[in-house]
Amino acid sequence: MTDSQPAPVPHMDPESFRRHGHEVVDWVADYLATVESRPVTSTVAPGDVAGLVPPCAPEKGESFDTIMADVDRVVLPGITHWQSPNWFAYFPSNASGPSILADLVSSGLGVQGMLWATSPACTELETRMLDWMAHLLGIGDRFLSTGAGGGVIQDTASSSAICTMLAARDRAAPGTQAGLQGVEGILTAYTSSQAHSSIEKGAGILGIGRDNLRIIDVDEHFAMCPRALRSAIESDLAAGRKPFYVSATVGTTASGAMDPLEDLLAICREFDLWLHVDGAMFGTAACCEEFRWIQRGCEQADSYTVNPHKWMLVNFDCNCLWVADRQALISSLSILPEYLRNQATATGDVIDYRDWQIPLGRRFRALKLWFVLRHYGAEGIRQMVREHVAMTQELVEWINAHEAFEVVAPSPLTLVCFSHVDGDDRTQAILEQANATGTVALSHARLNDRYVIRLNVGQWRTRPDHVRAAWDLLTSLSS
Ligand code: PLP
Repeated sequence: MTDSQPAPVPHMDPESFRRHGHEVVDWVADYLATVESRPVTSTVAPGDVAGLVPPCAPEKGESFDTIMADVDRVVLPGITHWQSPNWFAYFPSNASGPSILADLVSSGLGVQGMLWATSPACTELETRMLDWMAHLLGIGDRFLSTGAGGGVIQDTASSSAICTMLAARDRAAPGTQAGLQGVEGILTAYTSSQAHSSIEKGAGILGIGRDNLRIIDVDEHFAMCPRALRSAIESDLAAGRKPFYVSATVGTTASGAMDPLEDLLAICREFDLWLHVDGAMFGTAACCEEFRWIQRGCEQADSYTVNPHKWMLVNFDCNCLWVADRQALISSLSILPEYLRNQATATGDVIDYRDWQIPLGRRFRALKLWFVLRHYGAEGIRQMVREHVAMTQELVEWINAHEAFEVVAPSPLTLVCFSHVDGDDRTQAILEQANATGTVALSHARLNDRYVIRLNVGQWRTRPDHVRAAWDLLTSLSS
């Protein structure tokens, strides 16, 4: 090599990759083995992490050891430890061993599965996994790929809401090719006051207009009132508007309320509206026969979604969406530029999942489901769900027996919402003091304008001792 020749591009050679790969797996294994001992919530101030990162990329490549040292120095202090067994906030974001390793395989393969032809295994394994999941959760045969329906992995439940609202919009107003201004009558959608914010976001993104999403009242259990839904639909129809979509929730974000799907379904059938069911967090419980009541009626819905990336041991991201009529989804999302044409697509015999989602590109996420479902088996997943429910129900008993706290919403599964009897300020102070100890992470919600502590048991490392310790902490702060 002469002086004038540039240095070679510093690609990582296979042997270095192997060595560093082992180091990284060791690092992750050590992290997970010790995560319990870390303060659960990061205490860095805004800008602290960015302050440790130079404003521009380095001109010359750095050693892998330096990079990994900075994971400890720069990243770890700014991490909130969702994998801690003391994680009870929001919802779980479980990363199980098999899922992490599947993600590594997916990264190693580096597949971009936009078309069947760009990696047949990516597509066909996904189709099978969604059928496996449909059987596991008992959501009914209409969602299987063997009929007119089928499932797809999306990044999030929010994307699933948008995709289904889009398909429903186009079904109700076929003229949308020309833009919404070509549609006669204002389209209106419906969801409960307890639904996830992604439904409202979807209405905005799709040009329905946030104001044309009707927020339906809930009953004393925070579940959507069918009567209020019917009356909202009827008044929109009377005013010449076009009702087209209802999103029901199996396990609302704030309190875990279950909307009465069978009643809502009857209304949707009567008025020919698309019924989407959002089971993002609690849909996983349906793997156990005894909890399947939560989704009774979902078999006749138009679409159903659940997030294995919450409770079901698959690390983020992995959302499952099923539709009963895949053609409705595909006709809204399909677009075939010349550069994507290929023989397999032309036969019409293969699935091209790019037609089932908003982006073109997609990761090989089915591997995560495949590894997790095979590693645990349906039995292993059911056992975890039952253990989490049992731990939560014991906690509910403790709260009910305590004079200073009261449960403020039904807690049939793994989420408990409770308040201090002295009111909001006291409840909030207890929550903040508990989180400040670093030994737990809890979150809050407002129910009937009341401030509540939300405690969700769902991290797979959580054992009864952790729940007991969290409860002891809360009671010690309440006296
Ligand atoms: N739907 C419900 C009921 C949820 O609880 C959540 C998350 O909190 C979501 C949707 C949003 O999930 P994602 O982050 O997958 O969009």
